[in-house]
Amino acid sequence: MFTRLLKYNVFNGSKMELMEYIEKFSKVNIVSGNPEVLYNGLKDNLLLTSFTASRSVIIPDGVGTLLASKMVKVPIKEKIAGIEIMEEVIKKCSMENKPIYLLGAKQEILEGCKENLKRKYPKINIAGSHNGYFDLENCEDIVCDIKKSNAYALFVAMGAPKQDIFIARNMDILPCRVYMGVGGSFDVLAGKTKRAPKWMIELGLEWLYRVCKEPYRIKRLSSIPKFLLKVAEYNKK
Ligand code: UDP
Repeated sequence: MFTRLLKYNVFNGSKMELMEYIEKFSKVNIVSGNPEVLYNGLKDNLLLTSFTASRSVIIPDGVGTLLASKMVKVPIKEKIAGIEIMEEVIKKCSMENKPIYLLGAKQEILEGCKENLKRKYPKINIAGSHNGYFDLENCEDIVCDIKKSNAYALFVAMGAPKQDIFIARNMDILPCRVYMGVGGSFDVLAGKTKRAPKWMIELGLEWLYRVCKEPYRIKRLSSIPKFLLKVAEYNKK
């Protein structure tokens, strides 16, 4: 059910299998394993420890990760987008009346995201939220607010690596069961940005769509070849 990529075990099953798999954990960090996130982990011990911990599940979120799995000859069958898992978890929380906490994005985006989620899932209990513009070194008040909310799932949308650092540092002291760094997902849920059209997603071209819409992203694509190179080097050994 996993493909080994460098130091990572990347989930190699379907979306529904993943939803079943995460049920087993008393606490789980769902890591959207695109090459950028995984490459960040190779350069930072805190992140590496967090991503490789037994309570983390790395999902293959990106064509670069799928390509790497082909290079090691244990191809991953299905790309799993973080935002789709976020929606599945939210749907489940809404049906089972489990509270969620939303952390990240700009205040107006966060408000729009909450409004749209409430419209889509009228029963959802958003027990708390905070925008993503704060000092990671000085955020005890936010950690306290999440604790008080008793949220079952915590979604952190502050981009990589900030969201991953927040989760790595605070997962131990927080009572939530599901933790997930979700990048720009609040922007999508708020209706500010759109995901690529289905045909582009199916062809593995979501990255191209995002670069066309937000050209500054082009720099970030450099982690794809860097990550693939590491995989290739490791494979040669
Ligand atoms: N963001 C944030 N705090 C920061 C920097 C960014 O909350 O200090 C938010 C930003 O407003 C956006 C998201 O994090 O909503 C960034 O998502 P990005 O598109 O970079 O993530 P990706 O989906 O590419 O991982």
